[in-house]
Amino acid sequence: MSNSFKESIQDGDFTITWELVPGRGAREKNQEEIFEHAEEASGSDMIDGISLTDNPSGNPAISAEYLGMKLKEMGLEPLVHFTAKDKNRNEMESFLYSLEREGVENLLLMTGDYPNQGYEGQSKPVFDLDSTHMLELVKDLNDGLQYKDAFGRSQELKETNFFPGAVVSPFKSEEEEILTQYYKLEKKVEAEANYIITQLGYDARKFHELKQYVDDQGLDVPLIGNLYVLSYGASRAMNRGDIPGCVVTDDLVEVLSEEKEADDNGKQARLMRAAKMYAFMKGMGYDGVHIGGHGLSFDDVEFVIEKGEELTPDWEDFIPEFDFPMEDGFYYYEKDPETGLNSSRRADLARKPRKGLVNMAFRLAHNQLFEPDGLFFTPMRLFLRTIDDTFLEEPFQAFERIIKTITNDCQECGDCALTELAYVCPMSQCPKEQRNGPCGGSRNGMCEVYPDEQCIYVRTYNRLKEFEDQEQLKERVPPNYWELRHTSSWLNYWLGRDHASEKAGIEPPGEGN
Ligand code: SF4
Repeated sequence: MSNSFKESIQDGDFTITWELVPGRGAREKNQEEIFEHAEEASGSDMIDGISLTDNPSGNPAISAEYLGMKLKEMGLEPLVHFTAKDKNRNEMESFLYSLEREGVENLLLMTGDYPNQGYEGQSKPVFDLDSTHMLELVKDLNDGLQYKDAFGRSQELKETNFFPGAVVSPFKSEEEEILTQYYKLEKKVEAEANYIITQLGYDARKFHELKQYVDDQGLDVPLIGNLYVLSYGASRAMNRGDIPGCVVTDDLVEVLSEEKEADDNGKQARLMRAAKMYAFMKGMGYDGVHIGGHGLSFDDVEFVIEKGEELTPDWEDFIPEFDFPMEDGFYYYEKDPETGLNSSRRADLARKPRKGLVNMAFRLAHNQLFEPDGLFFTPMRLFLRTIDDTFLEEPFQAFERIIKTITNDCQECGDCALTELAYVCPMSQCPKEQRNGPCGGSRNGMCEVYPDEQCIYVRTYNRLKEFEDQEQLKERVPPNYWELRHTSSWLNYWLGRDHASEKAGIEPPGEGN
């Protein structure tokens, strides 16, 4: 079965998607419009894929998977957003098998916004896997997933045909946020994301920064720029931070506020802005655009594409119109005053946080106790072997619980990732339980869900940077082993049962060890 989106990307064509946003209810106007717009788009060869949002902004909606299957039936090419907020790993597999059977191949894998509204209150957040794990799951399915059945026999599934991609946000103001976004991007590319779509923003220099970073790091992945046709109402919501991860500065809101005084309420101006964005993204070397916007008609989308093509040869002329930096915002490269974009010179990362006493104490204890060549590693292992499965296990676990509750509000997941994340627990301190880098929702270094608290990856990055170890965050952290819940993670580590001991090469006790 052909796949216009995949073919366009693989052929190196400039790939265009149109994002349609499902709403709540089965037969409401919004849902009918999705089918109408999709039909219109199918009559044109301009759109390579119809992108379908998954429970937008954390609210319930008709499922993107269902819509994807229906559009495929109609002969259209869907790009299904597939997020971790409402599905655990088993539910993901269930959906993926259904999508595979219906020939829906294109997936945009994301962490997702924190759940918001729901029936009789806010729904329970899931976040069992993060976006990196989801890419790995899909890759394993594409390779023919191997697993052990209930009787311990090896099984292998038939290979699937998914074409997964992921997202990244360069629109962050703090060094810690940017660097950890980019480290996570590298993990996503490693996990075989076939394309990367940016978050929503209007700073040309940031779009350029991402492109330059990808090229400098030799990341072989097509980049698709997010092109949202911005209305005044949406700009104000994004400026307030109501839509996680979307960045609209005060200056841009001001521009839109003037534009809306026109007879058409600023419609022509916003379509022209979108066409100019199309032009500079194509001019900069992006591989496509992801068009979205509230209340857009197909004619509007067509206008943006046609006008954008016409303007592309002059793309550099439009850069000054997209100069919307965040206040004191960090850029990975220094500015090139001539172009208004970035020079090839890296920004100065020399500012080093002062070494904190707690951090130093953790490191010292870790090195002597937990590292296999540490002074106390072997005595601890011998001691724990003797108490394992005895009446002493419970008091030992209680002791661990007290220490970790004081330091990290421990949830006793039994499969600790503390050492990989500079002693900041992703399970208790991050509302989305992100183990491989930040979600896209942090704002000025603060958490999307708890805006009064720093994102854990800002804290983690700074703790590691004290020792110039921040690139440790490029290492993969696997999903939590839920089978270890409410057991002692220290016992699990020293006796070779959890993911951290696997990484450190610690075997379960047996003959000769
Ligand atoms: S702590 Fe960071 S990664 Fe976790 S939800 Fe908040 S912003 Fe996202």
